[in-house]
Amino acid sequence: EIAQRRASRLALVSEQGGADADWQLSLHSSLDHAIAHQHIYLLFQPQCLLENGHVVGAEALVRWKHPQRGEISPSEFIPHIEKAGRLKPLTAHTLRLAARSANVLASAGARVSVNISATLLAEHDFIPLVCDNIAAGGGRPEAITIEITETAKIDDFPIAASNLKLLQSKGFHISLDDFGTGEANLSLLVGLPCDEIKIDRSFVTLAQHNERARIVIGALCETARNADMRLVAEGIEVEEERNTLTKLGCTIGQGFYYGRPMRIAQLLAMVHSDEDSMSKKLTLY
Ligand code: C2E
Ligand code: MG
Ligand code: MG
Ligand code: MG
Repeated sequence: EIAQRRASRLALVSEQGGADADWQLSLHSSLDHAIAHQHIYLLFQPQCLLENGHVVGAEALVRWKHPQRGEISPSEFIPHIEKAGRLKPLTAHTLRLAARSANVLASAGARVSVNISATLLAEHDFIPLVCDNIAAGGGRPEAITIEITETAKIDDFPIAASNLKLLQSKGFHISLDDFGTGEANLSLLVGLPCDEIKIDRSFVTLAQHNERARIVIGALCETARNADMRLVAEGIEVEEERNTLTKLGCTIGQGFYYGRPMRIAQLLAMVHSDEDSMSKKLTLY
Protein backbone atom coordinates (compact mmCIF):
# COMPACT_ATOMS: atom_id res chain seq x y z
CA GLU A 1 0.00 0.00 0.00
CA ILE A 2 2.86 2.34 0.85
CA ALA A 3 4.51 1.60 -2.48
CA GLN A 4 1.25 2.36 -4.25
CA ARG A 5 0.78 5.63 -2.41
CA ARG A 6 4.36 6.54 -3.19
CA ALA A 7 3.86 5.76 -6.88
CA SER A 8 0.75 7.93 -7.18
CA ARG A 9 2.51 10.66 -5.29
CA LEU A 10 5.45 10.53 -7.67
CA ALA A 11 3.06 10.59 -10.62
CA LEU A 12 1.44 13.73 -9.28
CA VAL A 13 4.79 15.33 -8.59
CA SER A 14 6.08 14.78 -12.10
CA GLU A 15 2.74 15.87 -13.54
CA GLN A 16 2.67 19.21 -11.75
CA GLY A 17 6.36 19.78 -11.69
CA GLY A 18 8.80 18.87 -8.96
CA ALA A 19 9.14 20.07 -5.44
CA ASP A 20 6.26 22.52 -5.47
CA ALA A 21 3.62 19.90 -6.20
CA ASP A 22 5.21 17.61 -3.65
CA TRP A 23 4.90 20.32 -1.07
CA GLN A 24 1.25 21.03 -1.91
CA LEU A 25 0.47 17.34 -1.61
CA SER A 26 2.10 17.08 1.77
CA LEU A 27 0.25 20.20 2.86
CA HIS A 28 -3.11 18.54 2.24
CA SER A 29 -2.30 15.42 4.17
CA SER A 30 -0.33 16.90 7.04
CA LEU A 31 -2.83 19.42 8.44
CA ASP A 32 -3.88 17.16 11.33
CA HIS A 33 -0.27 16.35 12.14
CA ALA A 34 0.67 20.03 12.01
CA ILE A 35 -2.19 20.99 14.33
CA ALA A 36 -1.32 18.20 16.77
CA HIS A 37 2.34 19.28 16.86
CA GLN A 38 1.70 23.02 17.27
CA HIS A 39 3.14 23.75 13.84
CA ILE A 40 0.08 25.90 13.20
CA TYR A 41 -0.14 28.90 15.47
CA LEU A 42 -1.24 32.51 15.62
CA LEU A 43 0.70 35.74 15.56
CA PHE A 44 -1.01 38.91 16.75
CA GLN A 45 -0.73 42.33 15.13
CA PRO A 46 -1.69 45.34 17.27
CA GLN A 47 -4.48 47.75 16.35
CA CYS A 48 -3.79 51.16 17.83
CA LEU A 49 -5.46 54.51 18.44
CA LEU A 50 -3.92 56.85 15.87
CA GLU A 51 -3.92 59.73 18.35
CA ASN A 52 -1.66 58.14 20.98
CA GLY A 53 -0.72 54.60 19.91
CA HIS A 54 -2.69 52.81 22.63
CA VAL A 55 -3.43 49.20 21.75
CA VAL A 56 -7.19 48.67 21.43
CA GLY A 57 -7.17 45.37 19.59
CA ALA A 58 -5.12 42.68 17.87
CA GLU A 59 -5.65 40.71 14.70
CA ALA A 60 -4.83 37.01 14.90
CA LEU A 61 -2.91 35.91 11.80
CA VAL A 62 -2.29 32.23 11.22
CA ARG A 63 1.18 30.78 10.47
CA TRP A 64 2.40 27.30 9.54
CA LYS A 65 5.87 26.32 10.64
CA HIS A 66 6.72 23.63 8.13
CA PRO A 67 9.55 21.24 9.05
CA GLN A 68 11.22 21.73 5.65
CA ARG A 69 9.89 25.06 4.42
CA GLY A 70 10.02 27.17 7.57
CA GLU A 71 7.28 29.66 8.37
CA ILE A 72 4.65 29.70 5.61
CA SER A 73 2.20 32.60 5.22
CA PRO A 74 -1.56 32.04 5.00
CA SER A 75 -1.85 33.34 1.44
CA GLU A 76 0.47 30.47 0.44
CA PHE A 77 -1.26 27.61 2.22
CA ILE A 78 -4.93 28.58 2.69
CA PRO A 79 -5.81 28.20 -1.02
CA HIS A 80 -4.43 24.62 -0.95
CA ILE A 81 -6.22 23.82 2.30
CA GLU A 82 -9.41 25.14 0.76
CA LYS A 83 -8.98 23.10 -2.41
CA ALA A 84 -8.45 20.02 -0.27
CA GLY A 85 -11.70 20.72 1.60
CA ARG A 86 -9.89 21.19 4.93
CA LEU A 87 -10.80 24.80 5.67
CA LYS A 88 -13.18 23.86 8.52
CA PRO A 89 -10.65 22.00 10.70
CA LEU A 90 -8.13 24.81 10.13
CA THR A 91 -10.73 27.43 11.09
CA ALA A 92 -11.81 25.42 14.14
CA HIS A 93 -8.20 25.38 15.29
CA THR A 94 -7.54 29.11 14.75
CA LEU A 95 -10.80 29.99 16.54
CA ARG A 96 -9.78 27.92 19.59
CA LEU A 97 -6.33 29.48 19.68
CA ALA A 98 -7.73 33.00 19.32
CA ALA A 99 -10.29 32.36 22.06
CA ARG A 100 -7.52 31.33 24.46
CA SER A 101 -5.87 34.72 24.07
CA ALA A 102 -9.07 36.77 23.99
CA ASN A 103 -9.79 37.04 27.71
CA VAL A 104 -6.34 38.15 28.77
CA LEU A 105 -6.35 40.77 26.01
CA ALA A 106 -9.88 41.89 26.86
CA SER A 107 -8.90 42.51 30.46
CA ALA A 108 -6.26 44.90 29.08
CA GLY A 109 -8.84 46.67 26.92
CA ALA A 110 -8.03 45.00 23.59
CA ARG A 111 -10.36 43.02 21.34
CA VAL A 112 -9.20 40.04 19.28
CA SER A 113 -10.02 39.82 15.58
CA VAL A 114 -10.00 36.48 13.81
CA ASN A 115 -10.21 35.93 10.06
CA ILE A 116 -12.86 33.68 8.59
CA SER A 117 -13.07 32.98 4.88
CA ALA A 118 -16.46 33.90 3.43
CA THR A 119 -16.73 30.50 1.76
CA LEU A 120 -17.76 29.11 5.15
CA LEU A 121 -20.53 31.61 5.89
CA ALA A 122 -23.35 29.66 4.28
CA GLU A 123 -22.26 26.24 5.55
CA HIS A 124 -24.97 24.41 7.50
CA ASP A 125 -22.72 24.11 10.56
CA PHE A 126 -21.19 27.58 10.45
CA ILE A 127 -22.76 28.74 13.73
CA PRO A 128 -21.56 25.76 15.82
CA LEU A 129 -18.17 25.95 14.07
CA VAL A 130 -17.72 29.44 15.48
CA CYS A 131 -19.57 29.20 18.80
CA ASP A 132 -18.36 25.76 19.90
CA ASN A 133 -14.71 26.48 19.17
CA ILE A 134 -14.77 29.90 20.81
CA ALA A 135 -16.41 28.29 23.84
CA ALA A 136 -13.87 25.44 23.81
CA GLY A 137 -11.07 28.00 23.91
CA GLY A 138 -12.77 29.77 26.82
CA GLY A 139 -13.50 33.00 24.92
CA ARG A 140 -16.34 35.44 25.48
CA PRO A 141 -18.07 36.42 22.21
CA GLU A 142 -18.11 40.07 23.33
CA ALA A 143 -14.30 40.17 23.21
CA ILE A 144 -14.07 38.76 19.70
CA THR A 145 -14.40 40.28 16.24
CA ILE A 146 -15.01 38.00 13.27
CA GLU A 147 -13.25 39.41 10.17
CA ILE A 148 -14.86 38.27 6.96
CA THR A 149 -12.19 37.81 4.28
CA GLU A 150 -12.47 36.72 0.66
CA THR A 151 -15.93 38.20 0.41
CA ALA A 152 -15.97 37.47 -3.33
CA LYS A 153 -16.73 33.92 -2.34
CA ILE A 154 -20.03 34.42 -0.51
CA ASP A 155 -22.23 32.01 -2.42
CA ASP A 156 -25.55 32.36 -0.61
CA PHE A 157 -25.92 35.96 0.46
CA PRO A 158 -29.23 35.66 2.41
CA ILE A 159 -27.96 32.69 4.45
CA ALA A 160 -24.59 34.38 5.04
CA ALA A 161 -26.36 37.52 6.24
CA SER A 162 -28.66 35.66 8.63
CA ASN A 163 -25.74 33.61 10.03
CA LEU A 164 -23.77 36.78 10.71
CA LYS A 165 -26.84 38.36 12.31
CA LEU A 166 -27.07 35.35 14.62
CA LEU A 167 -23.39 35.67 15.61
CA GLN A 168 -23.93 39.36 16.25
CA SER A 169 -26.88 38.58 18.52
CA LYS A 170 -24.60 36.28 20.53
CA GLY A 171 -22.24 39.20 21.14
CA PHE A 172 -19.59 38.79 18.42
CA HIS A 173 -18.57 41.83 16.40
CA ILE A 174 -18.52 41.48 12.63
CA SER A 175 -15.87 43.17 10.48
CA LEU A 176 -15.59 43.55 6.70
CA ASP A 177 -11.93 42.93 5.78
CA ASP A 178 -10.07 44.53 2.87
CA PHE A 179 -12.91 46.98 2.31
CA GLY A 180 -12.83 48.67 -1.07
CA THR A 181 -11.13 45.88 -2.99
CA GLY A 182 -12.60 43.11 -5.12
CA GLU A 183 -16.06 42.25 -3.93
CA ALA A 184 -15.68 43.88 -0.52
CA ASN A 185 -17.95 46.69 -1.58
CA LEU A 186 -20.89 48.92 -0.75
CA SER A 187 -23.55 46.24 -1.22
CA LEU A 188 -21.90 44.16 1.51
CA LEU A 189 -21.80 47.21 3.77
CA VAL A 190 -25.52 47.75 3.19
CA GLY A 191 -26.61 44.12 3.19
CA LEU A 192 -24.55 42.43 5.92
CA PRO A 193 -24.63 43.04 9.65
CA CYS A 194 -21.42 44.92 10.35
CA ASP A 195 -19.72 46.51 13.37
CA GLU A 196 -16.41 47.37 11.72
CA ILE A 197 -14.90 48.26 8.35
CA LYS A 198 -11.24 47.61 7.58
CA ILE A 199 -10.01 49.95 4.87
CA ASP A 200 -7.65 48.01 2.67
CA ARG A 201 -3.94 48.81 2.72
CA SER A 202 -4.01 49.79 -0.96
CA PHE A 203 -6.17 52.85 -0.09
CA VAL A 204 -3.96 53.79 2.83
CA THR A 205 -0.97 53.79 0.46
CA LEU A 206 -2.86 55.64 -2.27
CA ALA A 207 -4.07 58.36 0.13
CA GLN A 208 -0.56 59.79 0.29
CA HIS A 209 -0.70 61.07 -3.28
CA ASN A 210 -4.26 60.79 -4.50
CA GLU A 211 -6.85 63.42 -3.55
CA ARG A 212 -9.78 61.23 -4.66
CA ALA A 213 -8.59 58.43 -2.35
CA ARG A 214 -8.51 60.91 0.53
CA ILE A 215 -12.07 62.05 -0.24
CA VAL A 216 -13.34 58.46 -0.30
CA ILE A 217 -11.59 57.55 2.96
CA GLY A 218 -12.92 60.69 4.63
CA ALA A 219 -16.44 59.77 3.55
CA LEU A 220 -16.03 56.21 4.84
CA CYS A 221 -14.85 57.53 8.21
CA GLU A 222 -17.96 59.69 8.40
CA THR A 223 -20.16 56.75 7.36
CA ALA A 224 -18.64 54.60 10.09
CA ARG A 225 -19.21 57.31 12.70
CA ASN A 226 -22.83 57.86 11.65
CA ALA A 227 -23.56 54.13 11.59
CA ASP A 228 -21.81 53.61 14.93
CA MET A 229 -19.19 51.29 13.41
CA ARG A 230 -15.50 50.97 14.18
CA LEU A 231 -13.17 51.79 11.31
CA VAL A 232 -9.64 50.38 11.09
CA ALA A 233 -7.08 51.52 8.52
CA GLU A 234 -4.89 48.58 7.42
CA GLY A 235 -1.24 48.64 6.47
CA ILE A 236 -0.01 51.89 8.04
CA GLU A 237 3.73 51.70 7.48
CA VAL A 238 5.03 55.21 8.10
CA GLU A 239 4.22 58.24 10.22
CA GLU A 240 3.08 60.32 7.22
CA GLU A 241 0.33 57.76 6.56
CA ARG A 242 -0.76 57.93 10.18
CA ASN A 243 -0.93 61.73 9.95
CA THR A 244 -2.94 61.71 6.73
CA LEU A 245 -5.45 59.22 8.13
CA THR A 246 -5.82 61.17 11.36
CA LYS A 247 -6.65 64.30 9.34
CA LEU A 248 -9.27 62.33 7.42
CA GLY A 249 -11.08 61.41 10.65
CA CYS A 250 -9.79 57.87 11.05
CA THR A 251 -9.20 56.79 14.68
CA ILE A 252 -7.74 53.25 14.63
CA GLY A 253 -4.85 51.86 12.58
CA GLN A 254 -2.93 48.63 12.06
CA GLY A 255 0.36 48.13 10.27
CA PHE A 256 4.11 47.78 10.47
CA TYR A 257 4.35 51.34 11.87
CA TYR A 258 2.69 50.04 15.07
CA GLY A 259 4.10 46.54 14.98
CA ARG A 260 4.58 43.44 12.87
CA PRO A 261 2.53 40.34 13.67
CA MET A 262 4.09 39.02 16.92
CA ARG A 263 3.80 36.33 19.58
CA ILE A 264 1.09 36.87 22.20
CA ALA A 265 3.64 37.41 25.00
CA GLN A 266 5.24 40.22 23.04
CA LEU A 267 1.85 41.80 22.35
CA LEU A 268 0.91 41.62 26.03
CA ALA A 269 4.17 43.34 26.94
CA MET A 270 3.27 46.08 24.46
CA VAL A 271 -0.23 46.43 25.91
CA HIS A 272 1.06 46.63 29.47
CA SER A 273 3.65 49.23 28.61
CA ASP A 274 0.81 51.56 27.60
CA GLU A 275 1.06 54.14 30.38
CA ASP A 276 -2.59 54.33 31.30
CA SER A 277 -3.74 50.94 30.17
CA MET A 278 -5.35 50.73 33.62
CA SER A 279 -7.86 53.38 32.73
CA LYS A 280 -8.84 51.61 29.51
CA LYS A 281 -9.76 48.40 31.20
CA LEU A 282 -13.38 49.44 31.57
CA THR A 283 -14.09 49.85 27.88
CA LEU A 284 -13.62 47.63 24.90
CA TYR A 285 -13.47 49.81 21.81
P1 C2E B 1 -5.57 40.40 6.13
O1 C2E B 1 -6.63 39.87 7.02
O2 C2E B 1 -5.91 41.62 5.34
O3 C2E B 1 -4.33 40.64 7.10
C1 C2E B 1 -3.41 41.65 6.93
C2 C2E B 1 -2.17 41.18 6.22
O4 C2E B 1 -1.36 42.31 5.93
C3 C2E B 1 -1.31 40.26 7.07
O5 C2E B 1 -0.64 39.35 6.21
C4 C2E B 1 -0.31 41.23 7.69
O6 C2E B 1 0.90 40.63 8.08
C5 C2E B 1 -0.10 42.18 6.55
N1 C2E B 1 0.28 43.53 7.01
C6 C2E B 1 -0.06 44.11 8.17
N2 C2E B 1 0.44 45.35 8.26
C7 C2E B 1 1.12 45.57 7.11
C8 C2E B 1 1.88 46.70 6.62
O7 C2E B 1 2.02 47.74 7.25
N3 C2E B 1 2.43 46.54 5.38
C9 C2E B 1 2.30 45.41 4.65
N4 C2E B 1 2.90 45.36 3.47
N5 C2E B 1 1.60 44.34 5.10
C10 C2E B 1 1.02 44.42 6.31
P2 C2E B 1 -0.63 37.80 6.46
O8 C2E B 1 -0.48 37.53 7.93
O9 C2E B 1 0.34 37.20 5.52
O10 C2E B 1 -2.09 37.36 6.08
C11 C2E B 1 -2.53 37.42 4.75
C12 C2E B 1 -4.00 37.16 4.65
O11 C2E B 1 -4.29 35.78 4.99
C13 C2E B 1 -4.84 37.97 5.63
O12 C2E B 1 -5.05 39.25 5.12
C14 C2E B 1 -6.10 37.14 5.71
O13 C2E B 1 -6.98 37.42 4.65
C15 C2E B 1 -5.57 35.73 5.55
N6 C2E B 1 -5.52 35.09 6.87
C16 C2E B 1 -4.67 35.26 7.90
N7 C2E B 1 -4.97 34.47 8.95
C17 C2E B 1 -6.08 33.77 8.59
C18 C2E B 1 -6.91 32.80 9.24
O14 C2E B 1 -6.70 32.40 10.39
N8 C2E B 1 -7.97 32.30 8.52
C19 C2E B 1 -8.25 32.74 7.24
N9 C2E B 1 -9.32 32.22 6.60
N10 C2E B 1 -7.51 33.65 6.61
C20 C2E B 1 -6.43 34.17 7.27
MG1 MG C 1 -7.91 40.31 8.32
MG1 MG D 1 -7.27 42.88 5.80
MG1 MG E 1 -5.94 44.03 3.12
